[in-house]
Amino acid sequence: MNILVINCGSSSIKYQLIDMRDEKIVTKGVVDRVGLEGSVIEQKTPGMDKVVIKESMEDHRVALKYLLKALVDEEYGAINSMDEIYAVGHRVVHGGEKFASSVVIDEEVMKVIEDCVELAPLHNPPNIMGIEACQELMPETPMVAVFDTAFHQTMTPESYMYAIPYKYYEKYGIRRYGFHGTSHKYVTVRTAELLEKDQKDLNIINCHLGNGSSLCGVKHGESRETNMGFTPLAGLPMGTRSGNIDPAIITFLMEKEDITFEEVNHILNKESGVLGISGLSSDFRDLELAEEDGNERAKLALDLFIKGVKKYIGAYMATMGEEVDAIVFTAGIGENSAYLRERICDGLESMGIELDKSKNDIRGKEAIISKDTSKVKVMVVPTNEELMIARDTLKLTK
Ligand code: AMP
Repeated sequence: MNILVINCGSSSIKYQLIDMRDEKIVTKGVVDRVGLEGSVIEQKTPGMDKVVIKESMEDHRVALKYLLKALVDEEYGAINSMDEIYAVGHRVVHGGEKFASSVVIDEEVMKVIEDCVELAPLHNPPNIMGIEACQELMPETPMVAVFDTAFHQTMTPESYMYAIPYKYYEKYGIRRYGFHGTSHKYVTVRTAELLEKDQKDLNIINCHLGNGSSLCGVKHGESRETNMGFTPLAGLPMGTRSGNIDPAIITFLMEKEDITFEEVNHILNKESGVLGISGLSSDFRDLELAEEDGNERAKLALDLFIKGVKKYIGAYMATMGEEVDAIVFTAGIGENSAYLRERICDGLESMGIELDKSKNDIRGKEAIISKDTSKVKVMVVPTNEELMIARDTLKLTK
């Protein structure tokens, strides 16, 4: 029983076909440069050579047509026909306040996703294009939307409201929504399994640290705090995103540099974060190497990031109001960088967090990396958003 998971970005489509009988990947791939010159599909099927398909793909519909063709191709396809796709799960970035869980897509759902374009102008439009193209190409196949924001809908108002006039929440829905919800949910479910605890009894602080980063305070298995906000620009300094800054900097810069809001927006989203501080790279691997070579600005960028993570761990320990079972690391940095995990945990011993340096010497696999004496466990749990999407899709369409 195969579920196709589709993640449409503005110029890319990531996809995975998962056999839900054993939750194994049948094939996966990425379409790059959709709508641009040099569009290409790269598909990897376990046990087969990577397939590269270069075709002109002027929009998401054409790209999905080639993608589906690649899935069933006689020579290199992973399945024999489209009938072998039971349902499609779409990643949708913003579901506003309407969706606290995944839903089967119908006209009403599409309308709400469209209403949320205002809240996620860069992300929801390509998601919509992907859904519409799939509906056209596979009209009989059920489709499910899985929202990045849904997991955080359990937050209470004192965690999601901003202290600006209340009318702007009522008028425009300005509040903290939080993102990476599918990842935070997967990690929560998996951590409960690994610790052999009921999810309802699980309190963790989940550190999703990648190109985009967010922490989530999970109490009784539900999201109660997250540091991403109204948009994914908030929280920690990220690869190229500033994270939280004094909002007055925006108008100050506009005036001093004589630049528009769009230009400031570009600076904060694309030229800031660890790239902006280091002037070198948004990739944490480059920064670790540069720091080793004595590059002061690379060191400063990492120091800022590390201090940010520590501060949020401290804040969420304080607001949890109960014992925290574990600090969990996930995503590109969280799963792979023993160095950054060690530096983040360094100095948190007074909060009952004791990292075991030798256990921490791992990459990309599930493990408890704290000392046996540590009151709060430290764990690595690689995320799997695609599997979470596929599970929800199966659950809703079975
Ligand atoms: P993600 O957005 O989850 O795919 O994470 C991507 C980011 O993870 C990259 O930009 C890298 O900075 C970071 N990353 C991946 N592997 C490592 C590693 N071994 N050490 C440090 N950072 C890493």
